[in-house]
Amino acid sequence: MENEKVVKISDLDLSLAEEFIEDMSFDLFACYQCGTCTGSCPVARFGGEEFSPRNIIRLIMLGDREAVLRNPLIWLCTGCYVCEERCPQDVKPPKIIVHLRNIAAKENIIPSVWSDIAANILTFGLMNEIGEFENKVRKTRFKLPELPTPDADTMRKLAEKIKFDRLVHYKHPEEETGE
Ligand code: SF4
Ligand code: SF4
Repeated sequence: MENEKVVKISDLDLSLAEEFIEDMSFDLFACYQCGTCTGSCPVARFGGEEFSPRNIIRLIMLGDREAVLRNPLIWLCTGCYVCEERCPQDVKPPKIIVHLRNIAAKENIIPSVWSDIAANILTFGLMNEIGEFENKVRKTRFKLPELPTPDADTMRKLAEKIKFDRLVHYKHPEEETGE
């Protein structure tokens, strides 16, 4: 009992949970912590880390904003929606996790690996640049055709429209050169 902390409901910071209810029009407090989501989750089962959608929802309900938003585990959900299909309370854990990531990204606590991948997609149109070397390996080793060059310009324009570029703190080429 020494390390256990008693939390009074009246002391809870409900602002994060209320943000969800306001923005997503469903009641997060309907979750009764049955654990069906975590029991169904492939990441929790095979990920080798302590990933648990049930725990994430609990932390939001307890108002531990920092612990949730700075939790690297929120970036592991694959969006397979198994938990959402099985939740008896229709709580929608994957939508909650996506919303958490959006808040975290807006507050600049997106892990650099994800902002780097986003920057690659907006720069090259792909998660990784495919150049001459990669195409040569495709051709000589795997007898595969060259990959077409993706239209990264259009991708950047689309990203600008939905402000994805700002969300992932992408620097446009003209911002880099100061033009
Ligand atoms: S989100 Fe649904 S499945 Fe997961 S613990 Fe809460 S009620 Fe159970
Ligand atoms: S949507 Fe995310 S949290 Fe839900 S089961 Fe799939 S990986 Fe797990």
